[in-house]
Amino acid sequence: MARVYNFSAGPAVLPEEVLKEAAEEMLDYRGTGMSVMEMSHRSKAFQQIIDDAEQDIRDLMNIPDNYKVLFLQGGASQQFAAIPMNLKKNGKAAYIVTGQWAKKASQEAQKYLDVQVVASSADKTFSYIPDCSDLAIDDDVDYVYICENNTIYGTKFKELPNTKGHTLVADVSSCFLSEPVDVEKYGVIYGGVQKNIGPAGVVIAIIREDLIPESVDASVPTMLSWKTQADAGSLYNTPPCYGIYICGKVFQWIKKMGGLQAMKEHNEKKAKILYDFLDQSKLFKGTVVPKDRSLMNVPFVTGDEALDAKFVAEAKEAGFENLKGHRTVGGMRASIYNAMPIEGVQALVDFMKKFEEANA
Ligand SMILES: *Cc1c(COP(=O)(O)O)cnc(C)c1O
Repeated sequence: MARVYNFSAGPAVLPEEVLKEAAEEMLDYRGTGMSVMEMSHRSKAFQQIIDDAEQDIRDLMNIPDNYKVLFLQGGASQQFAAIPMNLKKNGKAAYIVTGQWAKKASQEAQKYLDVQVVASSADKTFSYIPDCSDLAIDDDVDYVYICENNTIYGTKFKELPNTKGHTLVADVSSCFLSEPVDVEKYGVIYGGVQKNIGPAGVVIAIIREDLIPESVDASVPTMLSWKTQADAGSLYNTPPCYGIYICGKVFQWIKKMGGLQAMKEHNEKKAKILYDFLDQSKLFKGTVVPKDRSLMNVPFVTGDEALDAKFVAEAKEAGFENLKGHRTVGGMRASIYNAMPIEGVQALVDFMKKFEEANA
């Protein structure tokens, strides 16, 4: 059995070491005689797993004590609703729309409060990050929302917006743990783990304690109140136990790799190989303004749909999976998350060179 190079945007590649370890522990997790999948979430063994996972992500991200770390379900998409439900005070929020996910989040928020779109890059198919240094943000907004790394379009905020003192909420689904982060600049950092951390089914939300309201509107579902989850240590009901366990293993793996600074350097190296190639290629072109390029998701095109399709098909045959671009962008997209080895990116570029020569 051969493993392919998997460039999927999510669910995505996981460290092989982690998968092997999980396989070894599948039938008997550390002498318990059962799989983590079969274990009570109220057991000592599972409590240890979730406690260790929380401590490890706290260590990795340097999360201050006045932030809660919640392991939730419902995907990042469910937080699109939970965020306004929990943060609503004045009933108004500012959204920066840099792609589909931010747009969806803003549309969902509109059900619960007034949404001010204070910046957008929709005019150029979300191929850049707008200048957010001096936005017209009303004084009474409850928070400012961004999607920090735009998975579909391949852009990333290199500098956080000037929120004019308002709480910053960031969806980091596709750049979670890809580089060091200054948690204190945010009120809420959250993301689905299936892009860069673990299996689908877990959302991690890091929330400054004073933003977790004592009470929410009576209409807010119990499960969507952050306080319910915070008070119960993410164990109000049965959490996604197995997913949390795998996330914990990935945290351990990142620690072993040298932490977030090492991850950043590793990710920069990988992205550079691909972007350098794209910048000199006569066939392939990156679609994003260079200064706003993501280290995680790299969209590119040939400019000819038939040739794009040919490339994706031939790449698949050669062991490079999931390179087809998002249906709204077309072309190709290589997602090169933490667990993608540098050899995978180098091999892809070598393959692209050959394809370019053959199709000149
Ligand atoms: C994938 C993705 C989402 C949606 O995540 P779900 O867990 O499927 O709800 C939201 N935001 C970003 C940035 C994503 O990449």
